[in-house]
Amino acid sequence: MKASAQVVVIGGGVVGASVLYHLTELGWTDVVLVERKELTAGSTWHAAGGMHTLNGDPNVAKLQQYTVNLYREIEQRSGQDCGIHMPGGLMLADDRERMDWLRMAQARGRYLGMDMEIISAAEAKRLFPLLEERHFIGALFDPAEGHVDPAGVTRAYASCARQAGAEIYQHTRVGDLRQRPDGTWDVITDSGEIHAEHIVNAGGLWAREVGRMIGLELPVLAMEHMYLITEDMAEVAEYNAATGHELPMCLDFDGENYIRQERGGMLLGTYEQACVPWSPREAPWTFDKQLLTPDLDRIAPSLEIAFKHYPAMADAGIKNVINGPFTFAPDGNPLVGPVPGVRNCWVACAVMAGFSQGGGVGLTLARWMTEGDPGEDIWAMDVARYGNWASLAYTNAKVRENYSRRFRITFPNEELPAGRPLHTTPVYDRLTAHNAVWGAGYGLEHPLWFQRAGEEPIEDVTFRRSNAFPVVAEECATVRERVGLTECSNFAKYRVTGAGSAEWLQGLFTNRLPRPGRINLTAALDPGGHIVGEFSVARVGPDDFFLFGSQIAEAHHSRWFRGHLAEGVRFDVLALSLVGLSLAGPVARDVLQSVTDTSLATEDYPFMTFRRIDVGMIPAYVGRMTYTGDLGYEIWVAPEYQRALFDLLWRAGQPYGVGLFGFRALMSLRMEKMFGTWFREYRPIYTPVEARMDRSLKLDHDFIGRAAVEAELARGPARTLGYLDVTPDPTEPADVVGDEPIWHNGAVVGWVTSGAYAHYSGRSLAFGYVPSELAVPGAMFEVEIIGQRRPARLLAEPVLDPAGLRMRA
Ligand SMILES: Cc1cc2nc3c(=O)[nH]c(=O)nc-3n(C[C@H](O)[C@H](O)[C@H](O)COP(=O)(O)OP(=O)(O)OC[C@H]3O[C@@H](n4cnc5c(N)ncnc54)[C@H](O)[C@@H]3O)c2cc1C
Repeated sequence: MKASAQVVVIGGGVVGASVLYHLTELGWTDVVLVERKELTAGSTWHAAGGMHTLNGDPNVAKLQQYTVNLYREIEQRSGQDCGIHMPGGLMLADDRERMDWLRMAQARGRYLGMDMEIISAAEAKRLFPLLEERHFIGALFDPAEGHVDPAGVTRAYASCARQAGAEIYQHTRVGDLRQRPDGTWDVITDSGEIHAEHIVNAGGLWAREVGRMIGLELPVLAMEHMYLITEDMAEVAEYNAATGHELPMCLDFDGENYIRQERGGMLLGTYEQACVPWSPREAPWTFDKQLLTPDLDRIAPSLEIAFKHYPAMADAGIKNVINGPFTFAPDGNPLVGPVPGVRNCWVACAVMAGFSQGGGVGLTLARWMTEGDPGEDIWAMDVARYGNWASLAYTNAKVRENYSRRFRITFPNEELPAGRPLHTTPVYDRLTAHNAVWGAGYGLEHPLWFQRAGEEPIEDVTFRRSNAFPVVAEECATVRERVGLTECSNFAKYRVTGAGSAEWLQGLFTNRLPRPGRINLTAALDPGGHIVGEFSVARVGPDDFFLFGSQIAEAHHSRWFRGHLAEGVRFDVLALSLVGLSLAGPVARDVLQSVTDTSLATEDYPFMTFRRIDVGMIPAYVGRMTYTGDLGYEIWVAPEYQRALFDLLWRAGQPYGVGLFGFRALMSLRMEKMFGTWFREYRPIYTPVEARMDRSLKLDHDFIGRAAVEAELARGPARTLGYLDVTPDPTEPADVVGDEPIWHNGAVVGWVTSGAYAHYSGRSLAFGYVPSELAVPGAMFEVEIIGQRRPARLLAEPVLDPAGLRMRA
């Protein structure tokens, strides 16, 4: 065994093997993989090997596409048979909503170049004669689905990596990990020690236990999962003889099962409601290429439906039942990337679909390690999308919810209940008493809208307009015509202090820093000129700043800031030690002025002022800005003051007709003001030039990514963020939700990033990226909403108050 290596990958499942392979592909060859038993000994060996490209996040779908296309190459290069079968796959719809979902999935696939087809139930029956047609109303056929041999794929990755110089030590367990002061690692195994610059936790079923070796509690949990394999079936033989190929795979959402041909029989797996975690507290090290005892009673309800939907299955003999564990993160996507706060420590775990995702996970992690950047938008997989709040019990609740909903639709306006409420602010009970309908992000509850008194605070889930629609319209009118009050604690808040802070931030930010007492907006870029963050910067002293950013990116962004930290500068995450309320609307100033001695007249407190003032008796930082685009204020206080502040503002607002508004209204109001948002319009795959962040981009100072911006400005951006006025279907109106394709002259030319119905202006609006040469004001496009191409006109300016007079009043 080597005494030292640049990288030690812990775990020889399909994911660890893929990471090793991709590291060598990118030129890091002093790399080793340590496996406690044999390659595949965790969850990999008993997987069903199914793979597909479809994913709710288009960026993850792209990586799945990459994975599926990689198998032929590694098979050829290694000489190892990967058992690749590509019979295509059907997704079956049994009701209208599922059909809508399939149409939306097909539409999303269009701009990824996926060639999927909506077909009738009769056509589905022709392709897959085992199904009983009357239970279905249609299907989506994806020719790029198939299955592989899990062990073959893992060995092929390993073999290619070995050819490039990597070493693999099997029957070698990592028992401990110790970091040296210089950030390198001593990897302690039962066969000796390896000194490594980097470690990668690809421990699969034991990833949580490997994390614990360095005091980490990764949000990952294994679940039991069952599939059965039948004896050979005459129906299968007949189909194969008649068509000359194997049956396609089939996903039956209603039955919560998947089915595919396995040799001369069928393989049927279920995601049962009565799901069971495996080793919820501690995974045993003695578990070795083992299976769990099957529990047919548990999957009986799913089998019953499967036998109705595929009658031939009811008569087939069962040859084998597999019950094995595999891992999930709370949202079902992998955990990948550098662990925040721990140098040279990387993870690639919680990969629940190793054969669809393993290649993309390996590629992006290897790029991140060797090039400093994953090279793709991997937010949906970033380990930093969770903070310390994602405890073992939270993970347990969320993973069980996710597993049992694997084949259920999650609607764009749906908020799932497990693991909530977790974080609440002091005004939670006040807002609940006002009939708030709550949503959650990054563990924190935030009000979505306020149901009318006497009605249940519940939102109907739908792809179209919900029962919130008329109520949110009233909330918007309150803000635009009088004054609205809302909670704004769901921002990430950071404080930057210490000598050299200004110089440090100026080198990170695209905008000039504001003067003390002022706020402005800025972007931060990577060296390639892509947007890594978008922030409001409030300066309270020469070297004293508050930064406000996206809350869900709190761990993600603070990892980035800390990775660039300069000597003498202090960077603090304020989290819920600073909470906020926001007042917005034409009389917001009158309300706030009635409870403070500080003059709020525009000449004394102009737009984009940020100062420490007293509001009533409460010490507060007050910024004159709101995301609604109206005259307004964000008032930041320590949590112990928030209830008193709420009561004060609520009372003071009564003579002015104050009303509460929530996040849904805010999204509607920001759309008519043409304000973009992080993780939608602004993401690491876009540049500030494409995103038209002109006001945040000043080339009068040096900052990371400036050279790339200048080069792009010189050649012109390939695509541009467009602002679209969409005409919804008048009979059954639906607004965009994001990721819809944008058509032009019969071809898909772009995609929607976000949108909403702008209630006050009475327009359905969307943002989306289109080729720059088409981004001409007045140009006509079509946006595909639930299978319908709806006309959309590109607008040059906000539909409301384009000169921004309301904010500056
Ligand atoms: C019944 C079943 C059916 C499935 N069907 C499919 C499917 O059809 N399609 C699909 O994509 N996925 C499927 N999966 C999921 C798939 O198995 C996983 O996504 C995949 O195996 C994850 O691979 P991994 O490398 O992350 O983890 P693992 O396979 O668990 O690998 C981790 C490895 O790390 C080693 N290890 C851990 N700790 C240490 C240590 N301290 N020292 C040394 N070595 C260590 C372990 O021994 C293990 O070999 C299925 C899973 C099950 C259970």
